[in-house]
Amino acid sequence: MTDTRELTIGNADLYLGHGVWRRGSLRCVDGVIVEVSPERFPRGGGRHVDARGASVLPGFQDAHVHPEHGGSGLLGIDLTAVHDADRYLDLVRAYARSHPAEAVLIGNGWYGDLFPGGMPTAAFLDRAEAERPVLLNGHDGHSLWANSAALAAASITADTPDPADGRVLRDADGIPTGVLLDGAMQLVAGLRPEKTRRTLTDGLLAAQAFLHSLGVTAWADAMVGDSELSADPFEAYLELERAGLLTGRVVLGQWWERRAGLEQIERFEQRREAVRDLPHLSAGMVKIMQDGMVENHTAAMIDPYADIDDTGASFIDPQQLVRIAAELDARGFDLHFHACGDRAVRECLDAVEALRARGGGAGRRHQIAHVDVVHPDDLPRFAKLDVTANIEMLWARRDKEMLERKLPQLGADREPWQFPFGSLARAGARLAAGSDWPVSDPNPLWAIHTGMRRTAPSTDVHAIGDEARTHPLERQEGLDFTTALDAFLTGAAWVNRLDDVAGRLAPGLQGDLVVLDANLRTAPDLARVGVAETFVAGHSVHHGE
Ligand SMILES: [Zn+2]
Repeated sequence: MTDTRELTIGNADLYLGHGVWRRGSLRCVDGVIVEVSPERFPRGGGRHVDARGASVLPGFQDAHVHPEHGGSGLLGIDLTAVHDADRYLDLVRAYARSHPAEAVLIGNGWYGDLFPGGMPTAAFLDRAEAERPVLLNGHDGHSLWANSAALAAASITADTPDPADGRVLRDADGIPTGVLLDGAMQLVAGLRPEKTRRTLTDGLLAAQAFLHSLGVTAWADAMVGDSELSADPFEAYLELERAGLLTGRVVLGQWWERRAGLEQIERFEQRREAVRDLPHLSAGMVKIMQDGMVENHTAAMIDPYADIDDTGASFIDPQQLVRIAAELDARGFDLHFHACGDRAVRECLDAVEALRARGGGAGRRHQIAHVDVVHPDDLPRFAKLDVTANIEMLWARRDKEMLERKLPQLGADREPWQFPFGSLARAGARLAAGSDWPVSDPNPLWAIHTGMRRTAPSTDVHAIGDEARTHPLERQEGLDFTTALDAFLTGAAWVNRLDDVAGRLAPGLQGDLVVLDANLRTAPDLARVGVAETFVAGHSVHHGE
C-alpha cells in the first residue's frame, strides 16, 4: 500500500508564483511542501506522480463564488451547459417528469440574450410546465424567471409595486411578464421549498467536487447568511467540516443584510469565533452589495445610462456605507464590496478612504468585486487605498449580450472604461480573480484566456455572436499571462488570507496543487487544457479521466 504521507510529483513544469517557472519535481510530506527540486524525479517514498512535462501549479483560488447556489444548480434544473431557448424547455420538461413529487421546480443558469428584448416570459415557460410553479435563476444572479403558476402562487399582479431595490418586469399594460430583478426576487421567496440541511450539504458537496475538478482548492463564498438568492450555508459548512468532508479551504463572506443595521455585526463576530480553530474555514470577511448590475440598469452610475434617464440605485446610502464600513473595519472584518457601476465603485472607495482617514484599515484586506465600470479618476485609488480589485475576467468579451444590451446602456464614452483590468494593473492595483459561479463558469483557465485576450474561450457554449471569439473587448485592457495567472493564485490568496498557506509553491506551504494535462507555456489554446489531478494538503481530491 502506498504511503500517503509522502507525495512526489516529478517531470513537471512547476509554477512557483510571481512569474517564476522551474522544471523539476516537488515533494510533500504530511501535506506540506518540503522540497522543490530541479531533479526530474527525486528519491523519496510515498506516491509518485509523473506530470509528463505538464504544468503543475498551486491550487487555484476563487475569490468570489457562490458554491451552494452553483452546486444546487447542478442538482436542480441545470440550464448552464446549453445556450438555446427550446433546450431550456426540454430540460424543464425532463426534470418535471423525473421529479413528480416536487411541488415547486427550481432551476438555474438561463441567459436573456436568447429572447426578444433580452428577457424570457412566463408564457414561454408555461409551455414546459403549466401546473406547478417553476422558478429559474438567471445566470447573472440578479434575475429570476417564473412561470404563470409561480406568479399566481406568489400573488404577483399588475397591482404589485416594485420594491425599492428591484423591479418586476411588465408589459405595456403593467402586467408582470415573468422576470423579477434583484430585490423583486424576494416576492417569490415564500414559494421556495425550505432548504434542509441535507439539500445544503448536497449542494456544497456537488460544488466542491466541481471546483476541485477545475483545479480550485480554495474559495471565498460570497454569500453566507440569509439572502434572496440562497439559503444560509453556514451550518452546512460546519457539518461538512465536522464530518471530515470539507476538502476545500473556504472563506465565508458574511452577507450584509441591508434591511438590518449595525446590530448584525454581533452575529458576524459569533460566527467568526465559531470557526476560528477549524482547519478549512474562516469567517473574517463581510460581503456588502452596493449596487446591482449594468445589464438591468441597477448598477449605480455617475452619469445616467445612455438609453434611459436613470443613474441606477446605490443599495446603501453612501453616508451610511461609510459608517458601516468603519464599524466593520474597527471590529476586524475585511470588506468585500460588490460594485458594478462607476458610482458604486467610487462610493466603496470613498468608504475605505474615510475609514483610513480616521486611522482605520491597518492590517485589513478590503476588496471591491466586479468593477464593471471604473471612472478613470478612480483607477489609482485602488493602489493608494490598498483596495484589491476582485475581477471576473471571463466577462470581458464581446458577446451578443454585451453588444446588443450592455454597450448601448453605457454609451460610447464609457465603453473604454469597462473591465479596466490592464489599467488597474498599470496603476498598481492588486488583482484577485473570482468567477462569481454560477453567474459564469468557474474554470480559471477560461478566465485567464479572456483576461489576456479579451475574447471568449473556444470551448465556452455561452460565447454567442460573431465577435465574441474574434474581436477583443478593449484590447488594451488585456493582462499579461503572469498577472492573469497570479490573480487566481497569490492575488486571491491575499484576500482569502491564505497567502501564508497556499497560492505559491515553496517549502513550508501546504501541498495544494493542480497537475494539468498540458504545459500552459506551450499550449496553443488554454481553454482546452484540462486538469489531471488536484491535491489539497498533499491529498488527492480530484482525479481526471
Ligand atoms: Zn457574486
